[in-house]
Amino acid sequence: MSVTPVLEADALRRQDPELADILLGELDRQSTTLQLVAAENFTSPAVLAALGSPLANKYAEGYPGARYHGGCEIVDVAERLAVERAKALFGAEHANVQSHSGSSAVLAAYAALLRPGDTVLAMGLHFGGHLTHGSPANFSGRWFDFVGYGVEAESGLIDREQVRTLARTRRPKAIVCGSISYPRHLDYAFFREVADEVGAFLIADAAHPIGLVAGGAAPSPVPYADIVCATTHKVLRGPRGGMLLCGSELAERVDRAVFPFTQGGAQMHSIAAKAVAFGEAATPAFAGYAHQVVANARVLAEGLAREGLVVITGGTDTHLLVVDPAPFGLDGRAARGRLAAAGIVLDCCALPHGDARGLRLGTAALTTQGMGEAEMTHLAGLLARVLRDGGDGRRTREEVRDLAGRFPPYPH
Ligand SMILES: *Cc1c(COP(=O)(O)O)cnc(C)c1O
Repeated sequence: MSVTPVLEADALRRQDPELADILLGELDRQSTTLQLVAAENFTSPAVLAALGSPLANKYAEGYPGARYHGGCEIVDVAERLAVERAKALFGAEHANVQSHSGSSAVLAAYAALLRPGDTVLAMGLHFGGHLTHGSPANFSGRWFDFVGYGVEAESGLIDREQVRTLARTRRPKAIVCGSISYPRHLDYAFFREVADEVGAFLIADAAHPIGLVAGGAAPSPVPYADIVCATTHKVLRGPRGGMLLCGSELAERVDRAVFPFTQGGAQMHSIAAKAVAFGEAATPAFAGYAHQVVANARVLAEGLAREGLVVITGGTDTHLLVVDPAPFGLDGRAARGRLAAAGIVLDCCALPHGDARGLRLGTAALTTQGMGEAEMTHLAGLLARVLRDGGDGRRTREEVRDLAGRFPPYPH
């Protein structure tokens, strides 16, 4: 199979060399720099093939067997397959695989359970809550009354007493657990208990850890949450997109919240690619991958701590970690810029306390490339060298290029 069906298409190169160059330029960037953006990964050639397939041409509003368009008999099979694979993978009674993104999945979860003006308790944005957890710039903050919980100053761990107290005093209609930067496992049983005590729904936004859940490397929210929303493109390594999981009693509400409430036609090429990714995620090889992602993140965290960076919560249980580069006299923004110049690509993120920004690193993409603990230790040293003294720009960039070159994401 061709590595990237789109890139290999002679037709594209002949018809639109300008755009073909852009695609090849991005492939080159991804192959010669190190991707530590915690939300990113490298999909398989099979997932890319499904995305670049003629299913992209098909209009399919509605659900399998009940479409508003003709000619859906084949894409119906693809969607049923994706749904069955998702249900089996996560042990869920119901799955909806149509959400165009993680944010649309969250929107659909709110639409299924809430009315405008309802109170929702979620992790505060400053502590790692997502845009869809009440940002004033997002529909969530505009249409709902969000109350934010945070983390303890000392440990960086979720402040359970605060969660409990805010739930009791504010009586939210729903509690959201899930974050863009929390490096530890969530205690879903705890959130369920608090939600039950105050009669709230529990929504788990598992956009980040869902791939670890699939591989058995993180606890599953499915037995605890009323609705689990997730992305399919982070650790899970599928196409960009979203999904929802729930019990049978909420199945119809969730489906109607996705279509017709928040979306029109389903993207059948993406749904087919999700089916491919769920199939891959059900293999022993993916379980090995998920555990290696976590082992790599732990070694990277230990290495960075040894180099003198402050590791928030003292380490990680997952694919991501958050560090404070302050001991190097840098804030996250300056550190990110320096690292980018050396070919180490990552994000800034809020730190739990104070206004300075930190760095968020993830190991999902590097692990897909085949890197292991030895490479993580090497990388921790490289990273610290760049932060310490700018890292002798050219030499570090060459070392990064060498390391990346030994683990090509799409070997020819
Ligand atoms: C990534 C993420 C999302 C949104 O996913 P998009 O596909 O970017 O819309 C939602 N919630 C959390 C917690 C996330 O990490």
